[in-house]
Amino acid sequence: MILKKLPHPLRVINFITCRPTPLLSIGLFATNRCNSKCKICGIWRSEPKVDLEPEIVENLFKSKLLKPGYTTIALTGGEFILHPKCCEIISMCKEYGFNFHLLSNGLASDKLIKIVRLFKVKKLFLSLDGGPKPIRW
Ligand code: SF4
Repeated sequence: MILKKLPHPLRVINFITCRPTPLLSIGLFATNRCNSKCKICGIWRSEPKVDLEPEIVENLFKSKLLKPGYTTIALTGGEFILHPKCCEIISMCKEYGFNFHLLSNGLASDKLIKIVRLFKVKKLFLSLDGGPKPIRW
């Protein structure tokens, strides 16, 4: 039980050596596009539609804020897979060696399945809130 409460070894090393510790996880809200109209969320109403440029993501990946193999990137939005360059961003996560997971509402299921297969996505979080009927405005 006590072992679970110990900090990550990288945190301990950085504390001892007075180095800043990279972030353990970040949420990349890459787009405000969404193909759902959930009552609990107004992102689908946002105008204009905005997509995070892959160049900005790459600069973030190169920064000392994150560390490949340590930091986990949550790819979300809106609906992340509606980002016109979502595949480029996922490729970049893999290329830089970051752990990542994908969040989705599952509505664009064909595209989602293709992406999961293509990139061998290890963690996919599907938001399946509500009853049998979709909850939309
Ligand atoms: S699926 Fe998610 S991002 Fe899209 S409207 Fe619903 S809660 Fe918001």
